[in-house]
Amino acid sequence: MLVDYHVHTALCGHAIGEMEDYVKVAAKKDLAEIGFNDHAPTFHVQDPGLAMASHQLPWYVEQVRALQSKYNRPRIKLAVEAEFVPGYEGELRNLLSQYDFDYVCGSVHIIGDWRFDDSRVYPNGYEERDADEAYAQYFSLIRQSARCGLFDILGHMDLIKKFDYWPKGDIDHLLEETIEVIASSGVCVEVNTSGLRRPCAQIYPSEKILRLCHHYGVPVTLGSDAHRPEEVGLDFDKAVDFVRRVGYTQVATFTRRERVMVDL
Ligand SMILES: [Zn+2]
Ligand SMILES: [Zn+2]
Repeated sequence: MLVDYHVHTALCGHAIGEMEDYVKVAAKKDLAEIGFNDHAPTFHVQDPGLAMASHQLPWYVEQVRALQSKYNRPRIKLAVEAEFVPGYEGELRNLLSQYDFDYVCGSVHIIGDWRFDDSRVYPNGYEERDADEAYAQYFSLIRQSARCGLFDILGHMDLIKKFDYWPKGDIDHLLEETIEVIASSGVCVEVNTSGLRRPCAQIYPSEKILRLCHHYGVPVTLGSDAHRPEEVGLDFDKAVDFVRRVGYTQVATFTRRERVMVDL
């Protein structure tokens, strides 16, 4: 069975369409589950183009609940994609404790004050940085996000490659160290097809990373990172081929933060 655990809404300020239209596309593509995973309010930056504001969170939860009662298939999951920012773990824990989320996806889109993922300001910041150093900083944040205990899923865990940006040196040891930490922390890694629509033109994470995940027993789930209804489930044929080729036969699903593995 297939699930799309990474779907946004217009609340984040950079997605479009009605929430129900995302559900309808999931139904048409016969997905068993769709997870609304919109950008949770952030603490360190206030930007209506990046994430929903805290006063919008109750409304978001209400909308997901209403759709849950309207649809049996796909099953609809309540989740958020939360920015991992060292130093704000307490604030995030408080925020997450207010709702009965099915899962929480942790992501890193910002390193310090560098919004490396933000296409509105790209290529701001890229020219001044050493790619190897940027990769080391990024994966350090990924390890911290795995260890912090706030997340069930790590979103697009090599997002740093988004703009076709690659390290010059060999980073095998960095990747292995990172996957070991992820394995011991028990979080799941998302196979996110949106990388295919970006300059890097490949799924997040890379095949090398996914092979390490499989080797260390890290479970995976699937996400499209849809920011418009027609992107729900996009390129899932490629994602399924990819995870099967690496050796996975199951994906993770979540209900009230309990993980259940299901056959692909
Ligand atoms: Zn993201
Ligand atoms: Zn996203």
